[in-house]
Amino acid sequence: MRIASRFGRALIVEGALCVDVENASNGAFSHRIDDLYQNWPGFLEWAHESAPAADQPFDASELDAPVQRPRQVFAIGLNYGAHATEAAIEPSDGMPPVFCKWQSSLAGPETTVVLPPGGNTDWEVELVVVVGRKARDIDTDKAWDVVAGLSVGQDITERIAQMAGPVPQFGLAKSFPGFSPIGPWLVTIDELSDPDDLELGCSLDGETMQLGRTKDLIYSVPRLLTNLSQKVELYPGDVVFTGTPGGVGLFRSPQRFIQPGEELVSWVEGIGSIRQSFVAR
Ligand code: ZN
Repeated sequence: MRIASRFGRALIVEGALCVDVENASNGAFSHRIDDLYQNWPGFLEWAHESAPAADQPFDASELDAPVQRPRQVFAIGLNYGAHATEAAIEPSDGMPPVFCKWQSSLAGPETTVVLPPGGNTDWEVELVVVVGRKARDIDTDKAWDVVAGLSVGQDITERIAQMAGPVPQFGLAKSFPGFSPIGPWLVTIDELSDPDDLELGCSLDGETMQLGRTKDLIYSVPRLLTNLSQKVELYPGDVVFTGTPGGVGLFRSPQRFIQPGEELVSWVEGIGSIRQSFVAR
C-alpha cells in the first residue's frame, strides 16, 4: 500500500489515482497523515478490508511529506562501506554515528530549496524508515514488524556549517529549511520483493552522483532499529534516515556542491523518486 499526503490530507495511492482517507472512512481516520501512524495496525486493517478503490487523479507536485510532525528524526552516518571509505573513517562496531535532523527541515517530494549563502550544500540520498508502533529493545528478527513503511529521502547537508567549530554540527548543518525532503509516499513492506535489497541513487542535472544498494548497509534496517531501541524509545511516526552510499560532493575530486539552478533527483527502487531544485537566497 502507498500512503501520501496532499494539501495536508492523507491519501491512499493506487497507481495514478488516490482516495481521501478521512472522506472514505467517514471520519473514522484523520486527514492528518501523522495521526494514521498512531493507530497504524487499525488503519491498515481498514485500508485493506474496507477502503474504496482509488478514483481521483492527483499530481505528484501537490504532495506533502508522508510524515510531517515526527517526535524524532534520526539520521545515521557512515552506514555504507563505500561512503565510509571515501570519508576515510573506519566504520564503528556496535553503533553507527547517530545524529538528528530537526522537524522544521522536513519537506515534500517536489520542492525548491534555498541554498544557504556562502555554503557548500551537498546531497545524500537515503532510504527513509517510518516507525509504525511504540517500541523498545526490538528483536532484530522481528524489527520489520515495527516499520510502517519506507520512503525516499535526501539528507541535504551544508558542509561548512557541519565542520565549523570544535566538534561537527551535524544537526544544524542538516536542518536548514527544506533540507529533509521525503516522499513521494510511504510504501508498506509487503509491496517490496526484498526490503533488504533496494537500489537507490541520485543525479544532479541528469548526471548520476550516487548509486548503491541497501543490502550494502553496514547496519541493516532491522539492526539499526534494534540498536536505536536499546537506547531510546521509538514512537509511531518516528523517522530514520538510514545513511548514504558513496558519491557525495564533499569527497569527490574535485569537490562538487549544489549550484543555484541545478536539480537533484533521488530514487529508491520500488518506492519512487523525489525532485529538488535549488535557488540562491
Ligand atoms: Zn546522511
